Amino acid sequence: MAELPAGCRAVIRELRTDPAETQHLAELGLIPGAEVVIRLRGAGGSPIAFSVHGVTLALRKETCERILAAEISRPPVWLLAGNPNVGKSTVFNALTGLKQHTGNWCGKTVAGAEGVLRYGKTRVRLIDTPGTYSIRSGTAEEAVTGEMLRQTPHDCVICVIDATCPVRGLVLLLELAEQEPCLLLCCNLMDEARRAGIRIDLQKLSARLGIPVLGITAQKRSAVRAIPAAAAQAAQSPRPCREKQTRTALYREAHDIVRECFTMPPVPHPKTQAADRLLTGRLFRIPLMLLLLLVIFWLTLAGANYPSALLDRLFSCGCDRLMRYADGVLPAWLSGALIDGMLRGTCRVISVMLPPMAIFFPLFTLLEDVGILPRIAFSCDRRCAKCGACGKQALTTAMGFGCNAVGVTECRIIENKRERLIAILTNSFVPCNGRFPSLLAVVTVFFAGSGAFSSLRAACIMTGLILLSLAASFGWSAILSKTVLRGKASSFILELPPYRRPQIGTILVRSVLDRTVFVLGRAAAVAAPMNLLIWLLANIRIGAQNLLQLTAAALDPFGILLGLDGVLLLAFILGLPANEIVLPVALTAYLGTHTLTEQSSLTALHGILTANGWTSLTAVCFLVFTLFHAPCATTLLTVYKETGSRKWTFAAWLLPTLTGILLCAIIAFLCRI
Ligand code: GDP
Repeated sequence: MAELPAGCRAVIRELRTDPAETQHLAELGLIPGAEVVIRLRGAGGSPIAFSVHGVTLALRKETCERILAAEISRPPVWLLAGNPNVGKSTVFNALTGLKQHTGNWCGKTVAGAEGVLRYGKTRVRLIDTPGTYSIRSGTAEEAVTGEMLRQTPHDCVICVIDATCPVRGLVLLLELAEQEPCLLLCCNLMDEARRAGIRIDLQKLSARLGIPVLGITAQKRSAVRAIPAAAAQAAQSPRPCREKQTRTALYREAHDIVRECFTMPPVPHPKTQAADRLLTGRLFRIPLMLLLLLVIFWLTLAGANYPSALLDRLFSCGCDRLMRYADGVLPAWLSGALIDGMLRGTCRVISVMLPPMAIFFPLFTLLEDVGILPRIAFSCDRRCAKCGACGKQALTTAMGFGCNAVGVTECRIIENKRERLIAILTNSFVPCNGRFPSLLAVVTVFFAGSGAFSSLRAACIMTGLILLSLAASFGWSAILSKTVLRGKASSFILELPPYRRPQIGTILVRSVLDRTVFVLGRAAAVAAPMNLLIWLLANIRIGAQNLLQLTAAALDPFGILLGLDGVLLLAFILGLPANEIVLPVALTAYLGTHTLTEQSSLTALHGILTANGWTSLTAVCFLVFTLFHAPCATTLLTVYKETGSRKWTFAAWLLPTLTGILLCAIIAFLCRI
């Protein structure tokens, strides 16, 4: 029983334990004929937890070794493998109905995903592995994929390759054929191959490889429907594994196969080359990148205001009505804490965050789907190299704009450990989505002015702030790479995928439903208890002032030193669980009201802030401190998970906080003298 994998069902055949132990195990129901399901294994494979007769028990591995059990048939398991960016996740999503992250760049799937597909009456477990070029050695993805193939009992491997550039996919397939008896080859992106004038003799390819081959366009569900039948057949007809060969021999053979079975056009696509020259050329790359940023912010700013105010009004009406219903039914303190404190505050966080996210995320996903992100990494590489960082850091930084925790996880695409650490430590220098609403609100009320061009002016300032955050991120990368993380720069390997027509429908569904709702859900989950805490602080009075105002007053001297005030410092501290609540907390403390407040009317917001002593200096320091302060708790937890080190997690907290404190203190000092 010691060797059975997690999830496996087995029946006990014999106990080779001593009589006393046999007696004890029998009392627990472990007798010949009893059915067990393996649940978990501890570190190093011991102890092993399993369920028997409806209860879960754990035994040491040595005891399990003396219990002989035979595996009962498990549901079929198929693994999806392939190079990065060949459409594995698209196939996975189409087969399982799940929503694994897809995008036109290499390295986005850094961990496996699992789903279930139905084939006739059978439920098949389908596992998507991280994209890899080899299963023998090397990068984190290769290690994960190799490990999954070795550890997960499976019935068939579905290898997906890119029909437009098949050689590397075939090399991986030949490697797989050395250890996998049941293989199915899917040549994906047949639509692009057809457009590029590539023809493939699928029958000849199947005969040459000795395995079934399908030609598919993963984006069309109808094309993917053929996969289950073909995989089931491959699982039932195992073939002998190939002899092991060196990678050079595999490449030679893959080239031979392509020559025999593929008809390739002589030159690459001219349109791709022209677009690449424009986007990554010396003259236009920086202005074009800036223009892209500007357009994204302008669309987000111009589009988010009205729906934000509308949502706020709707939620306010709902909460007022609820308060009226609760009046007389619930005690005043309870309805105040639950409706005015928790519900109203959470609704306001949603009304401020939802519209900009619903615009920003689809636009960002569009860049990803078209294939622009890797070009940005390409253009940034020289600058990254100067800072001792890897070019792929541009990609992880870009992901950080959505969510720093996601950006930190994505740093796994950087193979070199030193460069990965640099990317992790500097990721939270770029503002995540949680910080955008506060930045947007303060920029709009203090610096955008009014009139036709106010949105554009605000977009320009936001672009400036983003550039400042990027400068700080790469500046710190340079400092780290020349001090504590000194070392040799790794070679830069990045794939430039072809430009692809974006799938607008999928982008909308994916970014609005998956990303927006996910981030919003997390923010609301953190904001709800936080609102309750703030409501309590605002309602417990000592003398004329409430606890919120008293704590803020104690922090005032340090806040003033930074061009801020005690209220803002307190708001930043309380904002540790979720950055999005910083401004609402500050407003609650200013107003002395009993709820978390987000002022949707910008004129009113300006009035409240100036009445509480805000000047242009306060606004500038607030913007700078919003860019550079402690990452949120989720990001810190992710840094700890990724680095496994308290020291580096502390460094991830310290660097942006220190930068914010120093910059604000300098700005305040200069302005005051
Ligand atoms: P993975 O890295 O292998 O999981 O690849 P993804 O599933 O994320 O796909 C990479 C990119 O290729 C995405 O932009 C997909 O929309 C696109 N894609 C996937 N399959 C097809 C296809 O059959 N045709 C076309 N034109 N694009 C595809």
